[in-house]
Amino acid sequence: MPRRLVRWFGSLKTTTKFGLSFSLMLTIIVMEMVVGYYALADLWAANRALQQSAEIQRLALTLGRNWESARRLQKDFFLQSAVIGANDAYSIYAMASAGKIDEVIRDGALLKRMIATTPDDSAVRTRLTDLDLLLSTVSRYATTYEEATELEMSMTSRDAGLSAQLDSVSARVLALLAGAREHETLIALYYELRYFGESAPFKAGAMDAAVLSLREAVGQSSLPAERISAALDALDTYEQLASQIAQTDAQIQEKLATLAQLGNSVEPGLVTLLAAVNTEAGQARLRFEQTRQSAANILAAAVVAGVLLAMAVAVVLHITVTRQVTRLTAVARRLQNGDLAARSALDRGDELGRLAATLNAMAAKLGLTIDRMEIVRKASLDLASELDAESVMDRTLEVSTTLSGAEIGFVGLASDDALYLARSRGSLRAGSAGDQLPCDVETLTTMINDRQATGRLTPESAARAGGLLPADHTCVAIPLVSVQNTIGVLVLAARDPNVFSADTLQFLELYATGAAVAIHNALLYENVQELAVVDSLTGLYNRRGLFQFGRQDIDAALLAGRPVALIFFDIDNFKAFNDRYSYDVGDQVLEAIATHLRESIPAPGIACRYGGEEFVVVLPGTGLGDATTRAEALRCQVAAAPIATDAGQLVVTISVGVAACQPPVASPRPVDSSGFLNDLIARAGHMLHGAKEGGRNRVVAEEARTGIRVG
Ligand code: GH3
Ligand code: MG
Ligand code: MG
Repeated sequence: MPRRLVRWFGSLKTTTKFGLSFSLMLTIIVMEMVVGYYALADLWAANRALQQSAEIQRLALTLGRNWESARRLQKDFFLQSAVIGANDAYSIYAMASAGKIDEVIRDGALLKRMIATTPDDSAVRTRLTDLDLLLSTVSRYATTYEEATELEMSMTSRDAGLSAQLDSVSARVLALLAGAREHETLIALYYELRYFGESAPFKAGAMDAAVLSLREAVGQSSLPAERISAALDALDTYEQLASQIAQTDAQIQEKLATLAQLGNSVEPGLVTLLAAVNTEAGQARLRFEQTRQSAANILAAAVVAGVLLAMAVAVVLHITVTRQVTRLTAVARRLQNGDLAARSALDRGDELGRLAATLNAMAAKLGLTIDRMEIVRKASLDLASELDAESVMDRTLEVSTTLSGAEIGFVGLASDDALYLARSRGSLRAGSAGDQLPCDVETLTTMINDRQATGRLTPESAARAGGLLPADHTCVAIPLVSVQNTIGVLVLAARDPNVFSADTLQFLELYATGAAVAIHNALLYENVQELAVVDSLTGLYNRRGLFQFGRQDIDAALLAGRPVALIFFDIDNFKAFNDRYSYDVGDQVLEAIATHLRESIPAPGIACRYGGEEFVVVLPGTGLGDATTRAEALRCQVAAAPIATDAGQLVVTISVGVAACQPPVASPRPVDSSGFLNDLIARAGHMLHGAKEGGRNRVVAEEARTGIRVG
């Protein structure tokens, strides 16, 4: 599966590859962010729950502490009220206690609201009704406490309290009783009354009896009537106040009992609440810890997964892109170092695959180009050392058909604005060497000017070349240009039109450039060679030609043991002839004699124009006698046959010298034929001189003799 995935990924375009990779990376980042967000959100929620439970715990503890303070202050108030006075006790303890209870109620309400926001299954949430009950109990406690405090204050208040009023009334009674004769009795009754009126527990019957006793005693006393009346009123007031105090005290006791009861009922609820709050705080801490741990695990897993995925993407990119680029670079470097066999094995449809295919094609083409360059180079070297024009043209045809894959080819050479078939390769439809081609130099020049020099033949020229080449073949014509002269054309034909690709034509043109120069040089050389041995006016060999070609025949005759004769003749009074008829007419005479010689000298005889109007005829295998006869016949023919010239039929005569040599009798040995020929020429020249001396128009032959001068 991973291999198939990598192969599939490798076949995508590079842009798509990077697009997919970046999209995947982006997806990874987004997923990381989402996972991170949810993990942190969980952690944040757990943290909030932890803080809330801590706040609940703090509030519950404060509530508990305040409750305890309130209870202690409340007790202190009732204890200290009698000691330091109701007013001070109220301001020190009662108010503080009430404040604490207010705080308990306020914290309780806040606690309720906070607990209501906790999850349904939280430990404190189940205690919400208990808290309600606890708070309502505390409220009742507060109300009861307030009532009790008021009662206590109404009784023990320093100025307006019932106790103070009672003290004041009893003091007034005591004052009113002063001065009476029955004072002692009255005082005794008075204290008895106070005992029953102010001691606890209050006994109403005893106090009523004591009041009655004191009232009777006062009524019967010696005190003035208005004092008695005032004392009786005061006693009434006392009695009322005493019973009121007793009543109030009873109420206070009742309230205190209620307070104790309420207070005691609050305690267990508070303990339960605190326990639940502590449990909840512990659980919240545990939950937070677990959430923190799982968030850390999730984040770590997400990061690891992200890194692994990113690494996988990087590895796939490396395999499909970087590694392939590195391999391509290595192939390119090998090519750069000249290893043209280097090829990339990458076979894919993406850009790198196409690049590899192009690199391979380029390397193949480079190799082919270098091979062809080498062929061209070697062929050019071959051509440069070849001086035979036909060989050069054959070689040119061989290389150019091999280079291109053409089956047929020919070389046409230019002469006087016409093209002649010189050499061919493969089977031409028609034509043989020397035939004039249907394509002339002008057409060729037009082709060059039309920039079709290395292109295929134009339809017109193709039709012309079609006379020689099969009609179903594709032809190309490559002009042969040397030293800016079109010396000819190289025409190639192939059945497959694809063989003449643009680069093949380039190579052909490159090769043809060198070939044209080589053909041109060979032709020039042949021309020069010919000029060097042939007399341009008469077409006979000149003196050098005589020596070059005559020697072989002389050697052959001598080696065969046969004689060699030499005729040397000179036109008589030719200077005067020229003077009389002109030099041109003299030339016509020379040409006519040469033609006569060519036609009359039998093989292997060699005729040569030895100098101005002097000719030499070498007759290998001919003896002196035959040679003399032949010389005489020649002299007669010249003298007898008028020569047609621009000046009319004119007659000239010649003087002839003949010399001959017999081969040595001894077994033949190689001879210095050059020296032999010189010797023979000198001797015949000597005879010629004799003929002139003798009066001209005659033949003088030397005495017959044998032997030759051996070099
Ligand atoms: P002789 O009978 O003694 O040979 O007299 P001659 O006038 O022929 O001899 P001479 O050596 O005094 O003159 C040779 C002449 O041949 C001189 C020259 O005008 C002529 N001659 C040499 N070469 C050529 C040539 O190529 N063409 C022509 N038309 N005349 C030539
Ligand atoms: Mg002469
Ligand atoms: Mg002469």
